[in-house]
Amino acid sequence: MQFAVLGSGSRGNATIIRCGQTTLLVDNGFSGKELERRLASIGCGVEHLDAILVTHEHSDHIGGVGVVSRRFQLPVWMTQGTAGSSRLGAVNELNIIDQSADFSIGDINVLAVPVMHDAREPCQFIFSHGQIRLGMLTDLGCVDDAVFSAYQRCTSLILEANYDEQLLARGPYPAMLKQRVGGRYGHLSNRQTADFLSLHHSQSPGVLKMLVMAHISEKNNTTECVKAALEPVVADAVTQYYAQQEHVLGFIDAH
Ligand SMILES: [Zn+2]
Ligand SMILES: [Zn+2]
Repeated sequence: MQFAVLGSGSRGNATIIRCGQTTLLVDNGFSGKELERRLASIGCGVEHLDAILVTHEHSDHIGGVGVVSRRFQLPVWMTQGTAGSSRLGAVNELNIIDQSADFSIGDINVLAVPVMHDAREPCQFIFSHGQIRLGMLTDLGCVDDAVFSAYQRCTSLILEANYDEQLLARGPYPAMLKQRVGGRYGHLSNRQTADFLSLHHSQSPGVLKMLVMAHISEKNNTTECVKAALEPVVADAVTQYYAQQEHVLGFIDAH
């Protein structure tokens, strides 16, 4: 299984997962043209995609889903709540995700995990094939027990570290937005992410092989703050990457 992060952050998200004969696009917050440009940079075209999965209806995740689905006749998977959002528009073929059961698209097994976030029925995904379990976990305000146990056996993670608590408090956002981001239905702080990784390590020592830090706020965080928060809790053996808003993180083998 390989993945590429085409972009990550509040101005647009898109991730490619490929395994065997199957290539999935998870979320698309970019225009059709921008998606094509980013795909081309990793030697991929929209015609290589088999399906689109959508985590929730915020525009940085769903903004470009309808247009790409219609133009390239791609089937789309999402929860009922996300599908009911007015932000979706028409799609080529809509498949509703049942959050209680995993399902397969081609060679990839998919588990949708409900998360706490200020959207109608948001979920995040765990992709598996053989021994590899790649978990995507962004856009959630807290890691509850159900989320933790779902992600506990992940061998690779694309994980949110959205904000530094002090930078958010001192930063430019209005008070309402600060409360939203920092609340139980907002995003994960560096500290929350470090706590999650620390628990992951203590409950499942040695299981995590690879970590991609994602959805890092450009206003309320820095790569240095994320690194400082994670250094004490991430083992040296774990390969680390940082997904960015402007730059594509090209194909990486999941472990
Ligand atoms: Zn987002
Ligand atoms: Zn969101």
